[in-house]
Order: sequence, then structure tokens, then C-alpha cells
Amino acid sequence: MTTSAELFELASRRIPGGINSPVRAFKGMNRPPVFMERAQDAYLFDVEGNRYVDYVGSWGPMITGHADRDVLAAVRARLDNGLSFGAPTAAETTMADLICEMIPSIDMVRMTSSGTEATMSAIRLARGYTGRDKIVKFEGNYHGHSDSLLVKAGSGALTHGVPNSPGVPAALAEHTVTLSFNDPDGVEACFEEIGDEIAGVIVEPVAGNMNCIPALPEFLETLRRVCNEYGSVLIFDEVMTGFRVAMGGAQAYYGVTPDLTCLGKIVGGGMPVGAFGGSQEIMEQISPLGPVYHAGTLSGNPLAMAAGTTLLNKVQVPGFHDALSQRVETLCNGLKERADAAGVPLVVQSAGGMFGLFFTAQSRVDNFAQATACDPEAFRHFFTGMLDQGVYLAPSAFEAGFMSSAHTAEDIQHTLDAAEKVFASMA
Ligand code: PMP
Repeated sequence: MTTSAELFELASRRIPGGINSPVRAFKGMNRPPVFMERAQDAYLFDVEGNRYVDYVGSWGPMITGHADRDVLAAVRARLDNGLSFGAPTAAETTMADLICEMIPSIDMVRMTSSGTEATMSAIRLARGYTGRDKIVKFEGNYHGHSDSLLVKAGSGALTHGVPNSPGVPAALAEHTVTLSFNDPDGVEACFEEIGDEIAGVIVEPVAGNMNCIPALPEFLETLRRVCNEYGSVLIFDEVMTGFRVAMGGAQAYYGVTPDLTCLGKIVGGGMPVGAFGGSQEIMEQISPLGPVYHAGTLSGNPLAMAAGTTLLNKVQVPGFHDALSQRVETLCNGLKERADAAGVPLVVQSAGGMFGLFFTAQSRVDNFAQATACDPEAFRHFFTGMLDQGVYLAPSAFEAGFMSSAHTAEDIQHTLDAAEKVFASMA
């Protein structure tokens, strides 16, 4: 039998860090990542034959569980027609219609091959549409790895951003202002000072890249108001939340309507897909109708459209999100009860089909500073303990957990039983 440790060693010879996306590396976990062989429903199966109840779900897309039979059948049905034509297909219109129907703020939509491309293109569009360069983002929000968005806060709230990675030009980072999440006053102060230079504000309405931090309603309402007042474009990055926290995404969950929406993950059913869309007035600025350039050799790929539209049709079923949220609540309440009983300080937060566990004595976690004040050693202990008992959680204290409709009551019970043992060893 080949072990994960052996495969990781082999991978590390040819692939930097042995992985193709950093969070997979199990950094800080003192063990090599688990190499997977296959997946079905709520389960991942590793190369050593171990089964895990999975709460990562390929970081979000697998909302009806892994290897969904309908999604696979739709892909199979398209397969023999060819993989890609670089020419239009009717499947792209089916997808566009579906997205516009499910998310009413979207009149027109463009497909991409990743969430990164969706946010990068939405930012370019906001800049092209307004004729302004500055964008506002929030500390702890992640929008993919494009240059303008890999920027962290400067030393003061209103100072220019600084690159988050070597290779991001400082001259570009200067146009990105990074503010504190869930701080309406900071947003107001920023707009009062430089509002008429701001092309757009991009936000994760439920932040899923610093664990799980739902926006406070008044925060999103402030964003909407100042964007209206100053003519800036409000962009919701719903790559994670889209079709997950509610059928119509976080904008339906909160009742706050953005100008542009970025999508990914579920929209592709597990294939490499992203999308961005919004009002006709803004979207008509895109080439060839308008001057703002966007393109993609594989954008709207027929197999990806088949997978994505099939999955979207499944999550449109009435009651789907209520049932999903119910499962999340059962899990979260059960974890909290067991942590309390064991005397392990734990904050549990959730929104629809996503949740987060914070090892902290704080009463709630609303921003990056609070998220980073949690106990990393407690998280590491919990994560590895759960993994040893066949529960696969995100291998980082700064990622949300994802539930699927394939998780059964038994899967949740197994998770709670495992947690009880791990909490007992932590107290
Ligand atoms: N936005 C958000 C909110 C994300 O969570 C992610 C990825 N996790 C992205 C954008 C980037 O998407 P991708 O990894 O498909 O490029």
C-alpha cells in the first residue's frame, strides 16, 4: 500500500510544497496531508482505505455530496460530444438564465474558469465603469489571488494598502484600501475622505476565509448606502456563499442588493468554474459590447456548464436550504454542548450551509483581529484528533466548514461522538 506520507514526499519533489493550492498542505498540523482516492456522498476515502465524514466538500461545491449521481450523469451525457469548442453553446445560455433567475440582482452574467477570475474581472469592470482606480476590501476577506486583491492593510486604516505577497507591485497595491470587517464607522470615515475616488467595494458577505464570520446587517447596509451616495460599485464576493447560505445567496439572506456578484464553487458543480454578473447597465461595459476586456478560452466550457446547471437545479428544490441549515444547526449546537460540558472554550458561528469553530473565550467573533486571537494549538489538537477518528475538517483555523445535503443524522452523530472524545482530551 502506498501511504499519504509517501505520496506527499514524491509530490514534493516536483510540486512546490507538494500541493497545488496552499491550504491543502496541512501547514502547522505536524503531519502530511491526506491523499484522497475517491469520494461519495458525505465521505472522502483516502489512498490507505480510510473513510472520513467530510466537512470541506471540495471547499464548497459539493453541496449535495460528493460524486452526485445526477451531476455525473449530466457530464457523461455531454462527454462524447467533445470537451471544448471555443465557440458558443446553448448550455451557456441555460446557465445564464438559471443564474439570473436564482439571483435577481443579476441581469447579465459572464462565466470564468475560477473564482479568482470572477473577482479580478468584477474589479476591472467596476474600475472601467466608474473611471476610478481605488477599491476597498476588508481585512481577512479573501477574493482569490489576483494582484489587486492580494493586498493587506497599511499601518493606519486609511493608509494605502501594502502587497500581501512579493510579486504584487506596490504601485498597484496603493489603489487597494483595506478596512476592518464589520466596522461601519471605518467605512463611513473612508468614504468621507476619499469616496469620490473609490471605484468599488468588494466584500465576502459571510466571511469564509477567516473561519466563518457573518457580516453584521448594519455593516452591509452601510456599504450599500455609501456606494449609492458616492457612485461606487458594490461587489458581493459570493464565491462561497452563493447558492449556499440561501438559494439566492447572501444577498437574499441579508436582503442587501449588490451591483455586481461574483460566483464560483457550486456554480460549477465541482468543475473549474466562476462567474460574475450584475445590472445590465454595468455588464454592458464588457467587451465586445463595451470597452472593458474580459475573456477565457475555457469560459463556459460545456462539461462545466452541464455539471453546474444540474447542481443548481437540485439546490432550487423548495426547502433545500432550510433542511441544510437545520443540519448545520444540529451539528453546531451539538458541538457547543459537548465543548461546554468538557470545559473547552468554543464559539460556533454559522450561516445557512456554512459554519465555523473558534477556540476562544470571546463571546463572538466579528472580525480578523478577533479571529486571529483564537487558540491555534487548540485548533490543531481538535483537527488532528477528529481526523484520527474519521472526520475531515478544513485543515486551517481560518476556513469555514461546509455541510452537504448528503450528510445523514448518523454522520452528524459520528462527528459529535468523535468531538466529545477530542474535547475530553483537551480539557
Ligand atoms: N472568493 C472567495 C470568497 C473564495 O472563498 C475563493 C476561494 N476559496 C475565491 C474567491 C477564489 O476562488 P478560486 O480558488 O476558484 O480562484
